Amino acid sequence: MGRLSRDKRDVFYRRAKETGYRARSAFKLLQIDAEFDLFGRRWQVDVDVDAPSVSADHHVPASASEACIKKLQQKPNLTVCRAVDLCAAPGGWSQVLVERLRPSNGVSGIADSKHGATCHSCSATEPEENKSSPQIVAVDLWPMEPIEGVDIIRGDITSLDTARQIIDCFSGRRAELVVCDGAPDVTGLHSFDSYIQHQLLMAAVNITTHILCKGGTFVAKIFRTREVGLVYTQLRLLFEDVKCAKPTASRNASVESFVVCQGFGYGKLEINKCLNLALEGGWDEEFSGLGGLREFPGAVVVPSTVPFVSCGILEGLDSGGFVFLDADKSYPLEGDSSGDEGNVKALAPLAPPIQPPYELGMAKLKEAKASKKV
Ligand code: SAM
Repeated sequence: MGRLSRDKRDVFYRRAKETGYRARSAFKLLQIDAEFDLFGRRWQVDVDVDAPSVSADHHVPASASEACIKKLQQKPNLTVCRAVDLCAAPGGWSQVLVERLRPSNGVSGIADSKHGATCHSCSATEPEENKSSPQIVAVDLWPMEPIEGVDIIRGDITSLDTARQIIDCFSGRRAELVVCDGAPDVTGLHSFDSYIQHQLLMAAVNITTHILCKGGTFVAKIFRTREVGLVYTQLRLLFEDVKCAKPTASRNASVESFVVCQGFGYGKLEINKCLNLALEGGWDEEFSGLGGLREFPGAVVVPSTVPFVSCGILEGLDSGGFVFLDADKSYPLEGDSSGDEGNVKALAPLAPPIQPPYELGMAKLKEAKASKKV
């Protein structure tokens, strides 16, 4: 497929080059953010501790006492000021993180942004400049062109060494947001590819448990295949709210989706801890009004399904205002109304891969062809 026909067939590929993103996947994160408000914590309001009733999908039984609800819902009012982009190359998602967290791309970053509140995980003794400067760390197996405001680590997220490097980056502090768009090189053997993808996701979850703060958010690519229920169950143990999002920038034909996990540390595991406490007779003062196990009826069953959310109307990309772009559709190119693609220029990708793994193969092929000619 030539570059022009790819531009025509893949509107997000073309838009990325036009708008300065290194990868079309940037639109997926933008669309997920538009739906889930990843940086603003709008959802926090829904579970306000002072609210008279608890929303139906919250995991606290409606009859639980107020003290218990308070205990389970004591979430800090988070503002993202540390974010990690796992499997980041060529850097489209990191660019979105920079746009959101460092709009002026200067030291003042978050303080200037619309979310300019106190950073949750900065300690009071931290220097002023650190408090207001959001930290973004990007990790990938392959080298990445530098992005201003992003610390880049080259490494494999499944290795302990890389995990340690990421954890060290935060010197004991925790991030409020971890995103992972990791994908293995697919082989075409679907169940094998899906297994490897889930392993990659679990490696990301493992690192996340060390670097995400309580109440934090984790977003990751997932393949929605037959075994996905097990992954959902595992995520629901750790996070209060797990949803599966399919942005329109992700092709319908693809099994790719994204898990959006909010409220780290408030998953079913927490409720199970409460149950254990009750069984061991170890209720503390704050739980004393609960009246034992009566208010936690039955064992906590962790469902293997999560709500599915389709997202992605991109606003303002065309002069007409709201535009719905379909990743599976072919669009005419500007200057192409007569069907004459000769008038249209293909834009070069902004950050072509550095030392891609296929480079060696291509060189060998070239060599072989040349020697055949001789
Ligand atoms: N989100 C990126 C962007 O917007 O530019 C695109 C990510 S791309 C779809 C998937 C990336 O996952 C590749 O760059 C690949 O090198 C990386 N990756 C796959 N396995 C990895 C691993 N074990 N450790 C680190 N990165 C990995």
